[in-house]
Amino acid sequence: MDLIALAVPFFLLALLIELIVDRARGSGLYRLNDAINSLSAGTLSTTFGYFTKFLPLFVWGYVLENFALLDMPLSWFTASPRGIALWLIAALAWDFFYYWFHRFSHEISLMWAAHAVHHQSEDYNLSTALRQTSTDFLYSWIFYVPLFLIGFPLEVLITVKAVNLIYQFWVHTQVVRRMGVLDRILVTPSNHRVHHAQNERYIDRNYGGMLILWDRMFGTFEEECDEEPVRFGVRKPLANWNPFYANLQVYDYLLFDARHAQDWRDKLSIWFRRTGWRPADVAARFPKQNVDPTTFEKFDPVIPAPLRRYVLAQFCVAVAAMLTIGALFAISGVKAVMVPCLLLWALLYTLGLLNEGRPYATRFELLRLLIIVPAGVAGLSFGTTAVVLGPWLWPAAGGYLLVSIFGMYRAVREVNKKELKQSVTTY
Ligand SMILES: [Zn+2]
Ligand SMILES: [Zn+2]
Repeated sequence: MDLIALAVPFFLLALLIELIVDRARGSGLYRLNDAINSLSAGTLSTTFGYFTKFLPLFVWGYVLENFALLDMPLSWFTASPRGIALWLIAALAWDFFYYWFHRFSHEISLMWAAHAVHHQSEDYNLSTALRQTSTDFLYSWIFYVPLFLIGFPLEVLITVKAVNLIYQFWVHTQVVRRMGVLDRILVTPSNHRVHHAQNERYIDRNYGGMLILWDRMFGTFEEECDEEPVRFGVRKPLANWNPFYANLQVYDYLLFDARHAQDWRDKLSIWFRRTGWRPADVAARFPKQNVDPTTFEKFDPVIPAPLRRYVLAQFCVAVAAMLTIGALFAISGVKAVMVPCLLLWALLYTLGLLNEGRPYATRFELLRLLIIVPAGVAGLSFGTTAVVLGPWLWPAAGGYLLVSIFGMYRAVREVNKKELKQSVTTY
């Protein structure tokens, strides 16, 4: 049973409630473009995960089978006192290794390249929680290998992993301020806000997943301070809404520095150095400044309202597609979701372009609607997806395309009309 997949509808519901509360209070915690970008990164991470999650499962299973020190059968993990104690130990141990995984994810450049995605949002709300990386499958699993070496059953560790991740969802909110003594024991909204800050005093603090005790124990705890409000985001801002580039931004920076470094030792070691380290010659030739807190402004390109409405409608389609693909994956496996994932990723890419107000965004959207989607759906008719979706595939795709093309046409016409009116009144 995939607990995280089951939790997704509840995540979306909670997000919707927070959004309604925000709108009612006028507290401005949500911006549509930022939330769409975060959820696009989350959608990309979930769907990309269908193609990569076999890797940790394979290694963990192999370690458990061949090198486990203790034989702990699943039957020990019942509702008995011993079973409950074992579950708690497993959850606690997972949280301990999560702390170290998360700490390394911030402090080593290559790992920061994967993890930075989660921190790029300059807002902080429940959509930030779902802003997850697509590339940490390469090494995140390494940190938990000791637990498989001990011999905890795979099912138990997969469950505590899911619980750990699900727990972390609710702490991404500004609606809850302080929680008294709980702020000293658990990871809570207040101390996780500190973790998402770009303020100097809060950098590299509060790595815990469920317990903040690890930070207090290993000297990385920092309390949220009323005199210094948290500024969310990273110190080298993403400054675009492309969920693919969000995943590549830091790799791109590192590759640039590695290519331009003169010393081959720098070229190799840069990936494993402390985050922020740059070869001296490259730093001198291509200086890079962190965000200046006195002039910092959130990335927030303004696009015309009709286009914003179009983006919102297409984003709802993306969410529905993600949920459908999740069900399809559960029923038919990875082969069935290949083409649907490609179609969904094209949609996420186009949403980013439209939200950035790129001049060629509408042209790319037309290309998607007229060529990419029909070609993808035609491809689907020959695959296993067609068997599952049956007779609904073509009518649903045809209806979607017709409504989308009409919606796009109306949005562009409305924008042009408004621009014309504006130019008449201006001159
Ligand atoms: Zn982090
Ligand atoms: Zn977080």
